[in-house]
Formats: sequence, structure tokens, C-alpha cells
Amino acid sequence: MDKLLSKSYLDKQDIVSLLSAEEDDMRLLFSHSAKVKELHVGNKVYFRGLIEFSNHCSKNCFYCGIRSGNQQVERYSMTDDEILDAARFAYKNGYGSVVLQSGENTGASFVNRIAKVIKEIKKQSDHKLGVTLSLGEQSKEVFQKWFDAGAHRYLLRIEASGKGLYQKIHPSDKNHDFETRRACLKNLKSIGYQVGSGVMIGLPYQTLEDLAGDLLFFREFDIDMVGMGPYVEHPDTPLFQYRNQIPSKHCRYTLALKMIAILRIMMPDINIAAATALQAIDLLGREKAIKIGANILMPNITPGKYRNKYLLYDNKPCIDENPDDCIQCLDSRIKMTGNSIGYDEWGDSKHFLKKH
Ligand code: SAH
Ligand code: SF4
Repeated sequence: MDKLLSKSYLDKQDIVSLLSAEEDDMRLLFSHSAKVKELHVGNKVYFRGLIEFSNHCSKNCFYCGIRSGNQQVERYSMTDDEILDAARFAYKNGYGSVVLQSGENTGASFVNRIAKVIKEIKKQSDHKLGVTLSLGEQSKEVFQKWFDAGAHRYLLRIEASGKGLYQKIHPSDKNHDFETRRACLKNLKSIGYQVGSGVMIGLPYQTLEDLAGDLLFFREFDIDMVGMGPYVEHPDTPLFQYRNQIPSKHCRYTLALKMIAILRIMMPDINIAAATALQAIDLLGREKAIKIGANILMPNITPGKYRNKYLLYDNKPCIDENPDDCIQCLDSRIKMTGNSIGYDEWGDSKHFLKKH
């Protein structure tokens, strides 16, 4: 373990060995990654207020609860005013940035609406609130339009960096094409966004080699931000039928923590989010992730009445709460981890800033 942890460049086999670490070895890995975090990005956590403004989605990903094929979902879309109110809430409470997230939608009216909302959010906050987008695959022109409107970060998980696994968890049609997803990430980078990606951990068919490949993909792509968390099954999805053939929830959770720790060692100055799905398995999952390497938290600031309709996976936490309920709770939870909170700061990826 000491030899592995002192290597300056981890290869695939090294990563697989680290992903297999148990008990004392796992604790060594975590204490090492915590030190790397402290040294390179400090013990500071930045907030991005997450606004899940619509669950309409044109795609049909096999793992996701709001996929278009799920007829059980009552669809909603927040009004522009509701989105702006949520952004105002984030600004007033010192969150520094918001993330606009929804199902995947294209078409001129959606694209124009988002551009308008981005501009309004910037205007009402004196350009102080950072805007991150998580709106799926779009054309390069659309990415550019939203960048020009004021968004500066974009999250698009690759979901699985190996083409074979990607194809197993998505329908095989042109709407779910692996090469398109990769091309989107490249386009985002060339436009000048800070680019975030990520994967789900513990998917059916997924091996430790696949997960090691995911971490290598982030390094090769020179990613600025990563958000990855456990796959959590949803009963109304095709992948639910494999629920007995995947690792236990606890194993998926520890595997996700190991992925975060190893990535922190491999890419010491990127931003790594503590995914909400960690909290769906362990109530203190996100706090644990922050202790061992993550430095970003995305508190949900979607109005309470919509939260139980944006269920990507089962057992999603805090769906019967409102944004106000979370403030005190988060503050004390983060302080408990020995980290401070970067209130009113964008908390951009140091990795990105060094490149530019
Ligand atoms: N539609 C956009 C953004 C919303 S989905 C997009 O797909 O990019 C945001 C993320 O939720 C996805 O990238 C996926 O990784 C995650 N997700 C969906 N279903 C999940 C599940 N069952 N378990 C864990 N994460 C899931
Ligand atoms: Fe739609 Fe995103 Fe869910 Fe896929 S993961 S079905 S694109 S919301």
C-alpha cells in the first residue's frame, strides 16, 4: 500500500489494486487522499445551489427514474420566476453559484428560454452568482449561446467511459450515442467552459477495470471537475431487473468513496463533488466524501413541492424539505468534517485556473 500511494503516476493495475483495498488498506488510502486534498485545495467546501427546474426529458436512459418511457412520473417545469427566486435564495444565502439541471430538452424555445434565464440570474445578482449548467447533450452552437449568456461551467457525466458498458445502459439509437457524448465534452472544453463529468458506480455489468478506466478517462481528458456517486436502482427502470446482481448498497457506497479518494490523488487540484446519491445510501455519505477528498457540495434548492417529482433514483434524500430547512443543517454538517465553507465564492476549479 505504501508503495502504491507513493507512486507519482498510477496505471490501470495500480488503480484496480487501490479499488480492491479493504479495512486497514482502505483507511490508509483515505488518510492519504485527505492529506492530498488539504495540501492542494485546502479544507474548504464550496456550495452550488441545485435547481432541478424540470423533469421533462426526451431521453430514455435505462437507469434513470425520469426517463421519457416512465409513465408514472408527473411532469413539471418551474416558471422563470420560480427559477429566479431560487437563484435569489442562493445569492442571499452566500451559495456563490447555482446549477440549473433538468431532463434533456432541445428546440429553439427551450434554448432561448435558458439563455434568457441565465442572463436574468446574472443581472439580478450583479454578475456575482456563478451559473453552472447540467442540461445534457446540445449542439456546439447551443453550448456557445449559453456560454455567451453567462454560464461558465457545464456538467455532463460520461456515465460510463467504456463504450461497451455505455451501450448496455442506454437504448441503442442515435439519441443515446457514445461518440456524441464524448464530442459534447470536447466542444464544451473548446468553448472555454470549466467541464465536469462523472460516472455511476456499482452499475450492472460494471467491473473494477471499468471503474479504473473511468478514472484514466478523466485524467486523459484533463477534466476540471468530477461528480460521481453510487448507482441507486429505481423500480420503474429497465436496469431494476438486475438489482440482485449488483454489489450491495454498502459496497457501492465504499467503492464510490474509494473512487473519490483515488481520483483526488491522481488529479489533486480538480473540483470533486460529494454526490447526493452517497447520502441516499448513508446519511453521512457526503460528509465522509468531503473528509477523504471531495470539496464541492450541491445543496438542493428546488422548491419543496417539486422535489418528489425529480426522482432519478430511489430513496432520494430531503425530498420533503424546503431550501430554508437545509441552511443550518448544512452549515453544521460541513463544520463537523473540519472543513470551512467558501460562502459568496465561485470556488472555481484550481486545475482550470492554472491552465488558463
Ligand atoms: N439530463 C441531464 C441532467 C440530469 S441527470 C443529464 O443526463 O446529463 C443527472 C445525473 O443523474 C446523470 O448524469 C446520472 O449520472 C445521474 N443518475 C440518473 N439516474 C441515476 C441512478 N439511478 N442512480 C444514480 N445516479 C443517477
Ligand atoms: Fe434524461 Fe438525464 Fe435521466 Fe437520461 S439521465 S433519462 S438524459 S434526466
